[in-house]
Amino acid sequence: MMLDLLGGFGEKGRTSVAVSSGGDRILLDAGIRVGASGPAYYPALEGSAADIDALFISHAHEDHVGALSWLLSRGYAGPIFMTAETRDEAPATLAAYADAGDLSRFPFPGDRIELFEPGDMLKIGNLTISTGRSGHVVGGVWFAVDDGDSRVAYSADVVPDSNVFVMDRIPNCDLLILDASYGADPIAGAARARQISEWVARHPQGCLLPTPLSGRSLELIAALPGPFAIHASMRSSLQAQIDASASLLPGVPGILRHRLAEAPDWTDVDPLPALPLLADDGMGEAGPSSRLLPRAGEAGYPVLLTGHLPAGSPGDLLHAAGRADWVRMPTHPTLSGNVGIWEKAGRPAALGHSCAPDLLDELKSHIPSLLTNYRTGQRIAVPQGSNP
Ligand SMILES: [Zn+2]
Repeated sequence: MMLDLLGGFGEKGRTSVAVSSGGDRILLDAGIRVGASGPAYYPALEGSAADIDALFISHAHEDHVGALSWLLSRGYAGPIFMTAETRDEAPATLAAYADAGDLSRFPFPGDRIELFEPGDMLKIGNLTISTGRSGHVVGGVWFAVDDGDSRVAYSADVVPDSNVFVMDRIPNCDLLILDASYGADPIAGAARARQISEWVARHPQGCLLPTPLSGRSLELIAALPGPFAIHASMRSSLQAQIDASASLLPGVPGILRHRLAEAPDWTDVDPLPALPLLADDGMGEAGPSSRLLPRAGEAGYPVLLTGHLPAGSPGDLLHAAGRADWVRMPTHPTLSGNVGIWEKAGRPAALGHSCAPDLLDELKSHIPSLLTNYRTGQRIAVPQGSNP
């Protein structure tokens, strides 16, 4: 079994891995890289995509699905596997991040989507693809691919210690592709949630909390110390995420439903509220937060950023100018989480995706089998039967 590392290795964004064995070839995710331009915006796929038998999408964030129209423009003609929640969210991601020309010629192909549920096992040729809940967003999954001789597990984006979402255990494997977004960050989610709650309590005059629509928004709603407002455009999606209770920890849907029902809607014509205000996206690139970040910056309204900020994004610029604070709300594994995933998978050889090389070096001192020198564009053979 061979892997082509097409995006997300030694970098954050355009996450994509091709798995080949015998005559079978599948693609796991097809993301774009925010902040890049030209070919570096897309997976490093040489030539046509016509030889790919099937595409599997882990979730609808731009760094995992944003290159779908581009992939279709490169001749991809096979089925596209994703969960119903990912299917529902992906068109909005493409609208925000796909090239306008690609998107008009290759709009979201609803008729080619093959739905599955987390936990399902899928077959493509001689490959068996198992899936499990990621703990990252509603409907998000990881994939493990087995050809009978070896198994690779691709974590996509996962959260092993979420206060909101369930993550299923990643199985034993010969090669594990970890979500290394945070490198060796030692501060677990519960401690970060407390820091965010305390920051919000220190800003009773109101504040802006930019957040991606899916995933982190529910983590923030669970962490906030009191009443809050939401941008009105978020309500139906948040409600749908809470209603997808199979993705959520027991007892959580009821709490979140109550909090959301109590939260007033805020719209762009209103004055900035004397409450914490949630608005998507998380970095000011798109959605209402792209309008709200400049407004808050001009008004001196406090801003707390809680996630990844691509260099040069509006959130990054506001933070660099000292006009916004930043506390990470983990939506990826922190150190203990990734060590736990690796140990439960049998301590296999490992790669890390979605971070710069220096973070991989930090993680390697805790995960000695981490292979830190692999970059986007390279190939790697999966060790055979090393960890049955
Ligand atoms: Zn994600």
